[in-house]
Amino acid sequence: MNVVIIGCGVVGAMIAYELSQVPGLNITVFDRKSPAQASTGAALGVLMGVISQKVKGTAWQMRQTSIQRYGTLIPEIEAITGRKIPFNRQGIVLLLSEDTEHPLASGVEVLSEWEQLREIRQSQGWKLEIWDIEQLRKFCPQIDHPKITGAVYSPQDYQLNPTALTLALVDAAQRKGVNFNFNVSVTGIGIPPEKTEFEDYQKCNFIETTTGKVTADWFIVSAGLGSTSLIAQLDQMVDIRPVLGQALYLSLGHILGNPDFQPVITGNDVHIVPVGGRDYWVGATVEFPTNGNDIPPSKELLESLRQQAIAFCPELAKASVIRTWSGLRPRPEGRPAPIIGKLPGFSNIVLATGHYRNGVLLAPATSQAIQQIISPQDSR
Ligand SMILES: Cc1cc2nc3c(=O)[nH]c(=O)nc-3n(C[C@H](O)[C@H](O)[C@H](O)COP(=O)(O)OP(=O)(O)OC[C@H]3O[C@@H](n4cnc5c(N)ncnc54)[C@H](O)[C@@H]3O)c2cc1C
Repeated sequence: MNVVIIGCGVVGAMIAYELSQVPGLNITVFDRKSPAQASTGAALGVLMGVISQKVKGTAWQMRQTSIQRYGTLIPEIEAITGRKIPFNRQGIVLLLSEDTEHPLASGVEVLSEWEQLREIRQSQGWKLEIWDIEQLRKFCPQIDHPKITGAVYSPQDYQLNPTALTLALVDAAQRKGVNFNFNVSVTGIGIPPEKTEFEDYQKCNFIETTTGKVTADWFIVSAGLGSTSLIAQLDQMVDIRPVLGQALYLSLGHILGNPDFQPVITGNDVHIVPVGGRDYWVGATVEFPTNGNDIPPSKELLESLRQQAIAFCPELAKASVIRTWSGLRPRPEGRPAPIIGKLPGFSNIVLATGHYRNGVLLAPATSQAIQQIISPQDSR
């Protein structure tokens, strides 16, 4: 069976790798650029699974599936490719402040709500710890702010480098026979002939690319922000809009806090991500378009991000900014993220797109869902 995957960010690359293990599939991936150039190339790779406030339904199932799979996937891909994927297994520390109006407030502030979540996670087989200020000072002495009252520690959540992961997935998938075509745009999805009155679904049989026409049995659209215009050609609306994120690469000259304990630290949605040595990523802003889909990056918001990080981790004031970057998150308009499933009205076009702020986190669960659709008998 021939499968075409359109888009090679983390989602397309993950699907390609996971499907490469299903017998009988002949997989071809197209990307108009090199892999991991769009949203994936800007992501911080913070995987907020256990610490997320999703407790049931698909939203929690997908997080759980992904966190479980990452635990086995990273060593698996490293062994196949010989590549090293920066992978932080020391968890996520989420700072708590009593004052919900305060800039350090982090969503669910009330301690009893976190305690409730801890109980739920325990019943689901996962661990969360709630630290008071003394414990926080002991484990993360770099954190210092009068309003911070403690933290929630999620030891089983991860952070990884999304670009390194995507490139390694491509490498591993290639070794398992997947055919990648980079710098080739998909310009159209074959407009099928009108369905007859006896058919419920239309079937697509080819795509047009900048290097020619390609036929297949299945077409998986993992094109992020590029998905909308492709699907529009089929008179279908999959409205995905950009939300800009900016981030900073800081170098400090020394390690923050305890050198043996370097988790991601999150305060008021600002992540401080250790990336090795004495370097840290700080991100990310959340900037909505004001005029059409245009979002000029705001210098003020980037500086405010840096200041927020300094507010709870004062040593960062001394860090030098090595570089800054930005990227566009693909956010579905008027419906929850992500969009996974068959395109309504079509039997063989499958959407795996619109992952907004959690595409790296949800890529493994997404690929399992896609596998269920196209090859249910081989799904794990
Ligand atoms: C600053 C920032 C920080 C983030 N941090 C995190 C985080 O900590 N954790 C997390 O889970 N998520 C995070 N995200 C979100 C995450 O980056 C996205 O959800 C994820 O990368 C989406 O992956 P994707 O593969 O669907 O899309 P993309 O990475 O955008 O890939 C889509 C691909 O499709 C290709 N394409 C589009 N149209 C066509 C076409 N017509 N033909 C051929 N190819 C096409 C593009 O070239 C691109 O390579 C962050 C995002 C940003 C911007």
